[in-house]
This record gives sequence, structure tokens and C-alpha cells, in this order.
Amino acid sequence: MSTIPVGILGATGMVGQQFIALLANHPWFRVEWLGASQRSEGKAFRDAAAWRLARPLPDDVANRIVEAATPGRAPRLVFSGLDSSVAGEIETAFAEAGHVIVSNSRNHRMEPNVPLLIPEINADHLALLERQGAGGWKGRIVTNPNCAVVVMAMALAPLRQFGLKTTMITTLQAISGAGYPGVASWDILANVIPYIGGGEEDKVETEAKKILGSLSNGAVTLHPVLVSATTTRVPVHNGHTGSIAVGLEQKPPLEAIIDAWQSFRGRPQQLGLPSAPPQPIVYLPEANRPQPSLDVDRDEIVFHGAVHMGVAVASDDGLVVPVVHDARERDVVDLGREIVRATEAGRAGHLAPEMLRGATFTVTNFGTEGGRFATPIVRPPQVAILGFGAVRTRPVVDGDAIVAAPTLPVSLSADHRVIDGREATGFLERVLALLRDPTAGIAPFGQ
Ligand code: NAP
Repeated sequence: MSTIPVGILGATGMVGQQFIALLANHPWFRVEWLGASQRSEGKAFRDAAAWRLARPLPDDVANRIVEAATPGRAPRLVFSGLDSSVAGEIETAFAEAGHVIVSNSRNHRMEPNVPLLIPEINADHLALLERQGAGGWKGRIVTNPNCAVVVMAMALAPLRQFGLKTTMITTLQAISGAGYPGVASWDILANVIPYIGGGEEDKVETEAKKILGSLSNGAVTLHPVLVSATTTRVPVHNGHTGSIAVGLEQKPPLEAIIDAWQSFRGRPQQLGLPSAPPQPIVYLPEANRPQPSLDVDRDEIVFHGAVHMGVAVASDDGLVVPVVHDARERDVVDLGREIVRATEAGRAGHLAPEMLRGATFTVTNFGTEGGRFATPIVRPPQVAILGFGAVRTRPVVDGDAIVAAPTLPVSLSADHRVIDGREATGFLERVLALLRDPTAGIAPFGQ
């Protein structure tokens, strides 16, 4: 499938880096353009920005030259993580020039013609984009909300059916929301900071009303809920917590509220979009949950467009899994050569760190130790592990007779959230067919 070229404004910042990480190997998008300030312009990304994320910086982005944040050379679709002191002006210039901007900055969020989007809640607000055209922009701007608002609006949206009247929220916001270097360690360590600045309380109180509002006659009517917010910054890396009290017109039983949260689904789930969580709201019955360090990455599924093949190799230092990247793009000869190169480097202990990262599918061989079947644990980003046991002469049913024949036991462990049983069985059938007649695989692999 061909992918859509995208640009990133403010690519060198913390939000820009998150865009780069989330777009790496995305099945629909490929990053083709990076823009930032004069400080970064003309430098390769790896020299302009200090990469701060645990996920690796993709090589193609690392070597890409950062350009000026001016419209023209960027692709039509641009994600923006610009500093809010400049985002208003620059994003407007891009929209006027025909670019479609998806912005994280606050500048355009409350403009009547700009959708403020949490796609699970108000995908219908995208109809506002038509009015932007009437206002003279050749391009468009869509914004996403303040991060604390996402937590609150998602919890409140399913409660609108019970007559949502008032809400009071106290946030415990992670330092990730303050960018890098963010809050000084002297201030944040062993501390809680109230009134965190940047108009945070005001954003929580106004943005939620727009997101929860209804669209009629091409305009959003703000939701009448009264919101009162206190925002605090706490020494947590990632994951905002909100303590929320809610006033409702009705008195639904607890079960009805829990069911409203658990069954809540939106347009991204209906469409099966690549990064849509299958269940957007998770209710935890335990009294001491949620906790950011335990729940922030809960059920995260990242869909990779590429197949990076891990090959488990026994070395003197134990089992290592070198990775052959972009295995699907290689023909069978090239793939075979790469596997040999990776396994020899693994055995010799000569693997660079990037050769050990990012396997999405791994092949292993427990037959070397005489094993037959196994159920290896699949850990993200892997979605499946194919294992081969030892070839031995074993009893095999052949027609009505039992004969002695060489057999190769094959096991497949798969992440059931991504691959269902039917797909897994179909894949195994195909592997077995290719093992019976390897020549059948050469043409399709080589194409
Ligand atoms: P950051 O790390 O300071 O990055 C700011 C980016 O803007 C950098 O790429 C910087 O480029 C660029 N920039 C600064 N001045 C510029 C100029 N005059 N011309 C062109 N580019 C310029 O900030 P951040 O933490 O990523 O936050 C970015 C935005 O997202 C802010 O508006 C913030 O409020 C918002 N935000 C939103 C959320 C959310 O959940 N929606 C969360 C956090 C932050 P250089 O590196 O070249 O200086």
C-alpha cells in the first residue's frame, strides 16, 4: 500500500519527537519533511535535536535536514508541535498556503471554525473544516486538546446520557506535559506544584465544554456542564491522573456508569484505525488503581507497516536475537544472506545495538537442544514467534498405516490482540506447505 507523505512542524521539540516515534513504520504515513526554528534550520535532525525517547530514532529521520518553518516545500499534511509563542502565526500561514495542519498547540483550539478533536468523542466536529474553506483558507487546521482535558473529557463523554451538570477536577499531571527540560528538578522532586501556569485551569474549564458540545447548523454549541479545575504537577514521568467529582441530573446505579465506560466506543474503533485502542476507556475495579507507573502503557498496540525479523541465536553469552529489518522488502536470496550475516554476527558477539532492536516477528529453533514444541512469551513490538523443534524419526499416520518418518515440530506463539486464531492457523498452513515444497515459495518471495 502506498503511504501518505507528512511533515512535522516543531519536529525537534518533545511533541515533535513523539510524532516521529509514533509515525515510524506507520502503515499509512511516512515522514518526508521536518521544520523548526532558525536554530535548527539546515542541520541534520540528529545534530539539531537531542533524542529523548526510549523508542529508537529512525535512521531516515536522523539524517533528514531540518528546514525553515515556512510553507511551500512541506507535504500537504503537516503535524505541528510548535511552541505556542509562534504556533498561531506559523500554522495560519501554512493553512493559508494550502497545508492541512494537525496541531498540538493551544493557539487555534477555541476558534469557532476549528475542530478541537478527541476522535472517540466528537469526530462529527470535523464538519467545521468546510467552514474554514469558506473563510478563505486553501488548507485546514485541526487541533487536539490540552493533555489533562483528554483524561477528563474521555471520562465524562459516556456520562452525558445521565444529564451531566457539574464536574470538579484536581489533576496530578506528569512532567512529560511540561516539555524538556521542563520543571527544574529542584522544584519537582519530592514535591507537588499547584497552579502550574500556562493558563492550565482555564484550558481544562473551557476546552472540555467544546469537545463535549454538539454540532448543529455547522457550529458547535458548548456543553452546559460547569467545570471547576485545580491543576497540579507531580513527580511522575508519563501519565496524567485526574480526581474527578461529577454531578448528574439522574441517579444511575453504579453498574450503569461502569457499563457506560466499558462499552464506550467511537468512530476510530468503528473504522479500525491503526492506532485506535480497541477499548478506549478501561475500568479498573481495584481500589488502588489507576497508577501511572502501572497503567500508562496498558494495552498499547502499535501497528508496524514493516516486518522486522528476529532470528534467535545461541551465543557464548546466552541467547541473542539479531534483527533483519524490512524482511518483507527483500527477495529470498537477500533475506537468506542477511539471516546468515545476522546469525554469524550474533554468535561472534559483534552485534551493534540497532541490530538487536525492533523485531516484530521472530524465528527460533529449540530443536538444537532437542526440544520439540514450546510456547515462547511474545513481548512487544513482536506479534508472533515461530519456533522449530528437532527433526526426528517419529511415528506418522500415512493413509491407514503408521510409518516411521522424519518429522519437524513447528510451534507458533502469537499476540491474540493483534492476530486471531484463524489468521495464525492459516499462516502455519502456509509455512507447512512451503516446507513440503520450498520451490513454491521462491516466486512469490522474489516478486
Ligand atoms: P518544545 O520541546 O519546546 O519544542 C518546541 C518546538 O517549536 C521546537 O521544535 C522548536 O524548534 C520550535 N520552535 C520554537 N520557536 C520557533 C520559531 N520561532 N520558529 C519555528 N519553530 C520554533 O515544546 P513541546 O513540549 O514539544 O511543546 C510543543 C507544543 O505542544 C507547545 O505549544 C505545547 O504547549 C504543546 N503541548 C501539547 C500537549 C498536548 O497534549 N496537546 C502536550 C505537551 C505540549 P527548535 O528546536 O529549533 O528551537
